[in-house]
Amino acid sequence: MKNDSSPSPITGFLDASVTPYHTAAAIVDRLKDAGFTELDERERWDVTPGAGYFVRRNGSAVLAFVPGAKSPAEVGFRIVGAHTDSPALKLKTSAESDAHGYRVVPVEVYGSPIVSTWLDRDLVVAGRLVTERDGALQSVLARLPGTPARVPNLAIHLNRNVNDGFKYNNQDHLRAIIGAAASGENTESGKADNSSRLVEALASGIGVPVDSVRGADVFLTDGQPAARTGLASEFLVSGRIDNAAGCFTTLEAFLRSPRGDSTAVAFFADTEEVGSKTATGADSPFLRDTLDRIVALAGAGGPEEAFRARARSIVVSNDATNAVHPNFAEKHDSSYRPVANRGPVVKLSAQHRYATTGATHGFFADACRAAGVPVQVIVPRSDIPSGSTIGPMTAAWTGIPTVDVGIPIIAMHSIRETAGYDDIDFMIRALVGFYSSDVRIDP
Ligand code: ZN
Repeated sequence: MKNDSSPSPITGFLDASVTPYHTAAAIVDRLKDAGFTELDERERWDVTPGAGYFVRRNGSAVLAFVPGAKSPAEVGFRIVGAHTDSPALKLKTSAESDAHGYRVVPVEVYGSPIVSTWLDRDLVVAGRLVTERDGALQSVLARLPGTPARVPNLAIHLNRNVNDGFKYNNQDHLRAIIGAAASGENTESGKADNSSRLVEALASGIGVPVDSVRGADVFLTDGQPAARTGLASEFLVSGRIDNAAGCFTTLEAFLRSPRGDSTAVAFFADTEEVGSKTATGADSPFLRDTLDRIVALAGAGGPEEAFRARARSIVVSNDATNAVHPNFAEKHDSSYRPVANRGPVVKLSAQHRYATTGATHGFFADACRAAGVPVQVIVPRSDIPSGSTIGPMTAAWTGIPTVDVGIPIIAMHSIRETAGYDDIDFMIRALVGFYSSDVRIDP
């Protein structure tokens, strides 16, 4: 077990990944540092085998690839996917108003957070502004310094039964306080006053005139830095481990893998937490279209080549899964209780809430064995419906055999989740093994 407390790349990545836009930007920074070239979907592409490329959509989804030495029609793609988004509260920025001496902003609930964990936390205000410049709309990252927002609980004296279970009303109880009221009034108009101090502060922080702002996607997420806990520092605690940690392990493995015959792809989709049915999500043609485009660039052969390439490909969907919780162990099937620091987990579901098949399970387990990495399995209890991932949609859109895997974590969708620190390295090594494998899956 490693036992040093110095900052590691994973904690820096988690701290940077406060919104899907920031996660995508952190991925792009790393790709650029590694010499990758950005491609624009609106332009013609020209690629060279062995060189690195990436394309992005909406500032929140990224697809990176390295063309292999052989045509994808001959050897296929090796693809790993993860998602850039995490549950959060999304600010209704144009509904900011004064209320009883405070400046407040109502929120929408994004995805399925454990809502109570967002209260009484030091919250980051971050996202992207869309600004107009010379006839073009541009997405610009924005983040206020520090943790200026807060969603406070009601005192127990005014809510005596709170510990018996309390349901927060998403509209009324989760408004964020961002400061003192703009006016001296101590009442509530109930109406926004059409000025957003928050958007003004975000715009001024990035040096753009507020009258150039055409849109804002701004979230409240945890501002506490990622850290290690446990007597031997064996655990990693942070916001957004699901799935910024999956993006990190995917990216690291993609960059570390030796380049070979097959074309390596790393796909970072947005909007998984809200169903993926978007232009940037896994329930879109983004991945399939880009694969077909790469095949077309590889030369002659026509559409036939794209079908052949997909039929020779394999996808790993890399997303966090539920480790057994010592206080709630009965929530897992007693035969399938993944534990932190014991390696990646292969996820199975007869309902295909996970895309894993017998063949893809075997493929991934072999890759782990070859890499010297332990591997675990989860099949959810038959009386508790499981979550899902980008795996089933990716398999359905591309027709490519897919395996769902992930690091085991506890408190999934809490504002602060807990994982095993060694599982980060285990997953990277397992995925390097996957990218490097030349095992075939026959029909
Ligand atoms: Zn996830």
